[in-house]
Amino acid sequence: MKLKFKVYECDDCHKRAGEFADDKEARAAGWVISHDRKKFYCPRCAPNHKHTGRGGAKPYKAG
Ligand SMILES: [Zn+2]
Repeated sequence: MKLKFKVYECDDCHKRAGEFADDKEARAAGWVISHDRKKFYCPRCAPNHKHTGRGGAKPYKAG
C-alpha cells in the first residue's frame, strides 16, 4: 500500500508542519486551509484564521 502525503506548513507561525494525505485529513487534525488553498494554518494558529464555522472564531488562549 502506497500513501502519498503532502506537507502542510503553517503560514502563520512558520514553525509547524504536518503531513497529511489530503485536505480532509488535515482539517480533521485541526488544520485550517484557506478557501483558495494557498494558506495553511496549524491547529494552534487556526483559531486566529477561522472566519466561519460553528459558533464562529474563538480567540486562542495563550498559556
Ligand atoms: Zn502555526
